[in-house]
Order: sequence, then C-alpha cells, then structure tokens
Amino acid sequence: MTCHQLLPFSASLFLAASLFAGPAQAAPEEVLADIRNRTDAVEQQLIAWRRDIHQHPELGEQETRTAALVAEHLRELGMEVRTEIGRTGVVGILKGGQPGPTVALRADMDALPVEEPEGLPFASQATGTYFGEETPVMHACGHDAHTAMLMAAADVLTGMKEDIPGTVMFIFQPAEEGSSLVQPDEGRSWGAKLMLEEGLFEDQKPEAIFAVHVMPGRSGALSWRTGPSLASSDMLGINVTGKQGHGGMPWDTVDPIVTSAQIITGLQPVVSRKANLTQSPVVVTIGSIHGGSGPNIVPERVEMTGTIRTYDEEVRAQVGRDIKTSAEKIAESAGATAEVSVTPMYPTTVNDAELTELMAPVLEQVTESATAQAQLQGASEDFAFYAQEVPGFYFFLGVTPPDQDPAEAAPNHNPEFFVDEDALVVGARAMASMAVSYLHKAGE
Ligand SMILES: [Zn+2]
Ligand SMILES: [Zn+2]
Repeated sequence: MTCHQLLPFSASLFLAASLFAGPAQAAPEEVLADIRNRTDAVEQQLIAWRRDIHQHPELGEQETRTAALVAEHLRELGMEVRTEIGRTGVVGILKGGQPGPTVALRADMDALPVEEPEGLPFASQATGTYFGEETPVMHACGHDAHTAMLMAAADVLTGMKEDIPGTVMFIFQPAEEGSSLVQPDEGRSWGAKLMLEEGLFEDQKPEAIFAVHVMPGRSGALSWRTGPSLASSDMLGINVTGKQGHGGMPWDTVDPIVTSAQIITGLQPVVSRKANLTQSPVVVTIGSIHGGSGPNIVPERVEMTGTIRTYDEEVRAQVGRDIKTSAEKIAESAGATAEVSVTPMYPTTVNDAELTELMAPVLEQVTESATAQAQLQGASEDFAFYAQEVPGFYFFLGVTPPDQDPAEAAPNHNPEFFVDEDALVVGARAMASMAVSYLHKAGE
C-alpha cells in the first residue's frame, strides 16, 4: 500500500511501536465511558437531525440547506468553521485543550435521484434538479444518517475538548454519489477530490481519517476489513461506427450492431482470461446500448456505456488497456471503428493496515458486534481520495431493524432502503471513540 510512504514520521514511529508493544489499546477506559455517556445524552438530538435531513434531501453539489444546518451547529459549538469547500462542503476544526496531532472524521451529505415511497412521517417529498431535469430526491444511501452521526460526534467531542490531546477535523462532504450539475467526463472534479483540490489538507494535514457507511446488517453491528475494501470505479464508453444501409442488403453495410455484440462477448475474456483474479476481482459491466431506428435499417452507429470495478490499481490500469485493445481490434476486423473512453471515477478504497489494527480494539469496545470480516464491496467510495493522501480507515454500520433479516433488507440506493435509528448512536460513538483513541495513542 502506497499510504505508508505518506505517513508522517512521528505517526510511523508510534504505529510501528504499537505493533511491537503487543495488541493495540484503545483510549483509557474512563475516556471511552465518558464518550458513551455523552453520546447517549445526544441520541434524541441525533435522531431529530437525521429526520430533518432525511425529509430535506439535496442532490450532489446542491446541499445548501444541509450545509447551513451543519455549519450553524459547528459554529454554536464554538468551532472554527470553513464553508463552500468543494462548492457546498463544510469543515469544522476542534482544537483540543492538550497538544497533539490532527485526525479527521468525514461524513457525506448528498442524496439520490430516487423517489421515496410514502410511509415514514418524515418521508421525503422533495424534488431537485438532476442535470437540468426535475426529479424526486431521497436519502436512499443513508448519508442523512452519516451527517447526523458526525454532528453528534462533534457535540460529544466538544463537550470533552479540554482533555483532547490534539485536533479533530470534521469534514462534511458534498457529492459522494457524484455531482448533479456536471457529468463525470466534463473535466471537473467533485466531492472528496474537489475538496482536496481546493486545499482541504493544505493548512492542516490530518495523520489519519475515518468514515462510516450504513448498510443492511444487524442493527448496531460494525464491520470492516484490512486493505482493499471498496472497488475502484471507471466509466466506460464505447462508440462503434459502421456504414449505414438496407437491412435486406447487409453486404453493402458495415453493421455496428453485430460488431457491438461481438465486442460485448469479446470483453468477457478480459476478465476471465487476462486479468489475474488472484490479485484482484474484476467486474466489467455494459449497462447501456443504444443504436438503430427501425427493423430494416442497419444503423451508422451504436453507443455503449458501462462500468469497470477492481481492487488493485495495477489490475485497474491493465483492464482499461485490454478493453480498449479488444474493442478496437474486434471493430477493425469487422471493418468498423470503435472509440473507447475509460473515465476514472474513484480509486480503490484501501484501509491502511496499521491504522486498521490500531482501530479494531476501539470498535470492539464500542459495540458487542464488531467484526473484521466485512465482505469486499462492489460499490465505490470517494473516501478513497482522502485515503490516498493520509492513512484511512472506512467501516460499515448495520442498520437493519432486529425483526428483519439483513439478507432480505432492501440494499442502499433502493427506495425501500431503511435505517434503524437505534443503530445511529453506535456510529456516532464509534467516530468519537476512534478520533480520541487515535490522539491518545499518538501522545503515548
Ligand atoms: Zn450510495
Ligand atoms: Zn453512500
């Protein structure tokens, strides 16, 4: 993992030391107990924030109401607050009463162009503008929960700031799901990448960064894994150009539809024969194919789009190259041409090994149900960009109500996705406990 080279010297030292000193320890028992009490005290407020944000979801880069709510809260807590980083991002800086390094906690604030069914008293009836089109909007990925949990963690840590040995940076990020204003191939960044480009870590670089994501799973259960955890994501475009003509006389045409079918089939060996799947699982999906206007017309052109997922940057680069070569050569053999574009979206999200080892005992103290056996996720996360800058740790919080089977629960992005609010206090506690534990460890 490249992250190790980015570790500040002092952090490397203490992380290395923690490895030789036996299993890593969490913050002192009484500090974690204090966090537990303080988080319990703010639980009702946490749920109220979550409901308010849930009822007023906003699309990527348009999270103005949510950002204002967050900024006001952080200012009330007396934090130094920066706004409009990465368009609608908000950052709060909490300086502890004791000297020490900086650690960052991140929540994403954006919702999705999904229509929420009726049912919850705080169900969304909001609409938004998604690439110029009016659309229903819903927090179908649970970022409302992430924002509320981090607001609660900010509350908790402010209450005990005199004893905190260092600084906590609270990052409330827009557009994790992508911008709703500019398309990925328009050449402008969004979300985590844009915040970093606008100097998020320039004045104050954290030594570590943490984030949590809600997902189907036993309510309040925490899970994570070491190393690659979420997939890289690249957007694939293939435009096949042939020669238009009569469907009854295909010999006078170059048929881009048949060629596209061959290309789709020809992409399968890129995964099954060429990629070293012991190094990284690989997914290549063609998700859309458009071409033609009638049954007896061979069209000029077919356009396909898709997605590529891997868990290793080397494999990612190779798969991109192999797809391009395969598509171009197959088209050439048919007398057609294929233009292939691979637009990088998100890198693989990698949990730093030493940081993961340091944080595991903290999460084990936060909940009875903690496991380092989380599955690899086929989804991607722009948290990956932070984790390329500083050691990162990303984990999951189960939010399926106890009377439901998590395996049957609607997944994230589904309109039926449901968050059991009893789990949220665990997420807030985990974030606060990790920040404080890291800073205590750094001071040893
Ligand atoms: Zn999502
Ligand atoms: Zn999400």
